[in-house]
Amino acid sequence: MPLRKVLIANRGEIALRIHRACQEMGIATVAVHSTVDATAMHVRLADESVCIGPPPARDSYLNMAAILSAAAITGADAIHPGYGFLSENADFAEMVEAHQLTFIGPTPGHIRMMGDKIAAKDAMRRLGVPLVPGSLGALATFEEARIVAQEVMYPVLIKAAAGGGGRGMKVARAESELEDAWRLARAEAKAAFGNDEVYLEKYLDRPRHIELQVLADTHGNVVHFGERDCSLQRRHQKLLEEAGSPVLGQADRDALGAQVTRALRELGYRNAGTLEFLWQDGQFAFIEMNTRLQVEHPVTEMVCGIDLVKEQLRVAAGEPLGYDQSDVRFHGHAIECRITAEDPQSFAPSPGRVGTYHAPGGLGVRVDSALYSGYVVPPHYDSLIAKLVVHGGTRAEAIARLRRSLAEMVVDGIATTLPLHRAIVEDAEFQAGDYTIHWLERFVAGRQGG
Ligand code: ADP
Repeated sequence: MPLRKVLIANRGEIALRIHRACQEMGIATVAVHSTVDATAMHVRLADESVCIGPPPARDSYLNMAAILSAAAITGADAIHPGYGFLSENADFAEMVEAHQLTFIGPTPGHIRMMGDKIAAKDAMRRLGVPLVPGSLGALATFEEARIVAQEVMYPVLIKAAAGGGGRGMKVARAESELEDAWRLARAEAKAAFGNDEVYLEKYLDRPRHIELQVLADTHGNVVHFGERDCSLQRRHQKLLEEAGSPVLGQADRDALGAQVTRALRELGYRNAGTLEFLWQDGQFAFIEMNTRLQVEHPVTEMVCGIDLVKEQLRVAAGEPLGYDQSDVRFHGHAIECRITAEDPQSFAPSPGRVGTYHAPGGLGVRVDSALYSGYVVPPHYDSLIAKLVVHGGTRAEAIARLRRSLAEMVVDGIATTLPLHRAIVEDAEFQAGDYTIHWLERFVAGRQGG
């Protein structure tokens, strides 16, 4: 059944992004907002809006009852969760469906499976997808951790089963460090996720983070839209992403894509998803799957010429994809910079009033942002304020376009990471595409004089 009215259970740039896709498809939108977001751009542009609570996210954007009530009183027929907040909460997806609403995403069962990283790895192992070597399932005792670490050899990583946002992850470079890593990872996981289950992986010393974007309809069709290279990270959090990866060719992309789409077809997956891999010495190893739209999805849209949110809306309404893998073509290269309200040296949050805001423009430039001059960045939420995305015929052209776009962009009144991005584009190793997941930490330390 076609969707008529979609409630967008999010805020900021992603709420706007979803609103824009709905508008172009003739679908009405309902914004939800906390009291501090009453004048936010996502509220101003939506067809209707409902206040769902006070500023703290747990009382508003994570308040399932308030969001479902907002859907009921506005007569929405579907909910798009965006990313973050409730997007990977299987209970929420279940509640949405129990209220006869369409959840724009995968089934609650698949969200639950992939949210437990141990279950996710287990499923992928059974489907023949290569994994990072490590423990088969959760570690019951420290002794077990010691035995598995000896088998896969140091360095190793203790990771939280419920992990996310880079939390609950500790490296042990030798057996003498294992007990601390075990203890700290479990304590952090317990505090962050209320679940101290952990597993062990070999810690790869120079991998790239390469992920594959997939889309499935409810008729058994699965396609992929190629990879994104998200190796530029700080504290396991992505800062700049590219499509495609500077190190992959079409043959690598086709091989990985064929393996992944076969696995997801067997799983009966639906809607959008991303499989994350570490890539080292020409080998892919699965680490986790995200069952939602991702922050960095625009780089894929730019190289494939598709609108992933429209595709999500279409398949959620039960439409078949209407094309197959051979129809998916890749053109040129795209790069995204995540611009956050943070100090570019210390990364201390920098909420507050924006003075002048000026977005760059021109051919191949896209800015996804809910900013405007005079907007007050609230301290309560994620610090992402804008995504600058550029597309070029080649990677070199995309970099040149990124450099001039970063120079044009103005966000004053608050500290932002714009100066850091301007420094990255000038770096010779970045320009050569020669980096691993550890590159940015060293680059930042160098700028700090450390
Ligand atoms: P989260 O869900 O917290 O984001 P991930 O499993 O996706 O955790 O890992 C986040 C990042 O941590 C990866 O992109 C990578 O940089 C690093 N990482 C994860 N597993 C390993 C590993 N086995 N070896 C080296 N780095 C890793």
